[in-house]
Amino acid sequence: MLKLFRGLKPFTIPIAFILVLVAGQAVAELYLPTLMSDIVDLGIVRGDTAYIFRVGGLMLLVALVDMGFALVTAFLSARVSMGFGRDLRRMVFTHVEGFSLHEFDIIGTPSLITRTTNDITQVQMFTMMLMRMFVMAPIMAVGGVFMAWQKDAKLTWVLAVVIPVIVAVVALTATRAMPMFRAIQARIDRINLVLREGLTGVRVVRAFNRVEHETRRFDAANRDLTAMSISVNKLMALMMPVMMLLMNLTTIAIVWFGARRIDLGEMQVGSLMAFIQYAIQILFSLLMVSFLFIMLPRASASSVRINEVMDLAPGIRDAAGARTADQERGHIEFRNVTFAYPGAEEPAVRDISFNAKPGEVTAIIGGTGSGKSTLVNLIPRFYDVASGSIRVDDVDIREMPQEALRGKLGFVPQKAVLFNDTIANNIRYGREDATDEEVAHAAETAQALQFIRAMPDGFQSMIAQGGMNLSGGQKQRLAIARALVRKPEICIFDDTFSALDFKTDARLRAALKRETADSTVIIVAQRVNTVMDADRIIVLDDGRVVGAGPHRELIRTCDVYREIVSSQLSEEELA
Ligand code: ADP
Ligand code: MG
Repeated sequence: MLKLFRGLKPFTIPIAFILVLVAGQAVAELYLPTLMSDIVDLGIVRGDTAYIFRVGGLMLLVALVDMGFALVTAFLSARVSMGFGRDLRRMVFTHVEGFSLHEFDIIGTPSLITRTTNDITQVQMFTMMLMRMFVMAPIMAVGGVFMAWQKDAKLTWVLAVVIPVIVAVVALTATRAMPMFRAIQARIDRINLVLREGLTGVRVVRAFNRVEHETRRFDAANRDLTAMSISVNKLMALMMPVMMLLMNLTTIAIVWFGARRIDLGEMQVGSLMAFIQYAIQILFSLLMVSFLFIMLPRASASSVRINEVMDLAPGIRDAAGARTADQERGHIEFRNVTFAYPGAEEPAVRDISFNAKPGEVTAIIGGTGSGKSTLVNLIPRFYDVASGSIRVDDVDIREMPQEALRGKLGFVPQKAVLFNDTIANNIRYGREDATDEEVAHAAETAQALQFIRAMPDGFQSMIAQGGMNLSGGQKQRLAIARALVRKPEICIFDDTFSALDFKTDARLRAALKRETADSTVIIVAQRVNTVMDADRIIVLDDGRVVGAGPHRELIRTCDVYREIVSSQLSEEELA
């Protein structure tokens, strides 16, 4: 938690202001019972009306100051803690943006979402309480004991008995609540996960009639959270009456023993009243501390979770003395590349070697799960290779700045991702300064112009969240346009053409050929049609290269390729 509190630095001045005001507030509140006892003991007893009015006026003034301070601190502490929360969210988000896919796999997207929202809110709320009570409670407790002792030293033993009891109650509750709050945060994660799957996969859920199953799953997660929250709240609910009981018992004890002292003429009535008020103030300040202790476990559980995110260093970082090479443009070379996903026993791709040169089309074909996506995901360094190396323009990509590497790439992922923005802006995501003509040209090449024109607002049409208002093929074509608008040295299409009909596929590839004549093009595909006229076809099977070469050669030499071909093309086409 302390680590996170470093983020409070920009708020030093308002915080100092708050602390001073809170201290003033505490002093004012400690002063009030003394004034009151003076009125009773010195004013009423003697029948001195002028004195009563004078001290009464002072009391009113002190009370007003107290209220003013309270208002200002409430306002300031709310502002500071909200600002702090905003900064924390920004910090976490910026950090997470630097993650490679590996780190996303480790924490999980739903948990990342909870951590940036709910967990930060916990810390933010705790900060607010802390600012208001952290200074207030000790001053009230210590000052209260001191003032009570001043009023009547002999009665203070009552406090000496009560205070340790209360401290024990608070400590006991806090230690029991701590693990429960940690569990609550984990269960909120779980709800998020189930909810996310249920919502993003809603079509699958409907289609397979699994609504009930999903509902049950959500119900279970929901009930888990509820049960845990109820146990925590039971604990907390118990604490309040216990504290009240202790407070009332204390009052009774003070009145009981104080009354005797008054009988003996050793104490005055006003002092007894003041003493009771001080006792209440002391207990209230302990109650405040107990609130802090109640919130502390939750906030600290949350801050641990936030720190976990912050401590997770992006596994893929720019090497010191990063090199860029410019003698060639877009030459890719795989040298004995092997890669396994974290936690997987078998490598997803192994011992891959090939060259892809500018002006050439390299196609990668293979069954599902053969490692095609894995292979191309290694090029932008979404993951780092386990052994071997990938070189772009004769420099190991691990030695290049990531920006320089990715600046060379136009990457179209297997699953098209679009943003909730206009079509034009989605294409311009590839290159911010692209002109309208360039955007339109990229769309034309990607064979997207026709359907964009047919939309009510053309390029200014909005894309719904997740691209719901577009078909799979339309999304793919926009993603292609986005890559093309960069005019990249290296174009990578991961299974981008399978959602297109044969005619569009053919037209798109013809247009691409003109557009990317000087670029290195890597096309991942499952259809033979798509790869047939590539300069080089790499056949993957179970993560290994089982054949490489042009179509005519592979037909003769590679069994796996011949199998794929014969399953897709008729005899005439083969000949
Ligand atoms: P393809 O694109 O050829 O269909 P992939 O490259 O997506 O195949 O997958 C290759 C293998 O790697 C599969 O066995 C798959 O289960 C595994 N795999 C893919 N992505 C991940 C991941 N993020 N974590 C672990 N294993 C994965
Ligand atoms: Mg794939």
